[in-house]
Amino acid sequence: MHIVVDPDRCIGKECERCVDLCPKKVYVINPETGKADPVRWEWCTHCFICASNCPTDAIEVKTPEKESRENP
Ligand code: SF4
Ligand code: SF4
Repeated sequence: MHIVVDPDRCIGKECERCVDLCPKKVYVINPETGKADPVRWEWCTHCFICASNCPTDAIEVKTPEKESRENP
């Protein structure tokens, strides 16, 4: 998983910035939780537009380099 959204921070439908801004359409608002869900995370190009525009700092974009450091 390359994208982690903190559900305690995400304000979901009140915001939807990541849904609107991601050029790869990675996010949807999950109808059950009402939070942003990176369903198409494998399309992510690690541009960081979502994380840098999230008003609650809920998004962590994990680059492949970071992931391999965390899970060697
Ligand atoms: S930009 Fe942040 S707060 Fe807004 S919907 Fe996405 S994850 Fe949630
Ligand atoms: S880093 Fe860029 S491509 Fe990846 S989910 Fe965020 S906005 Fe979309």
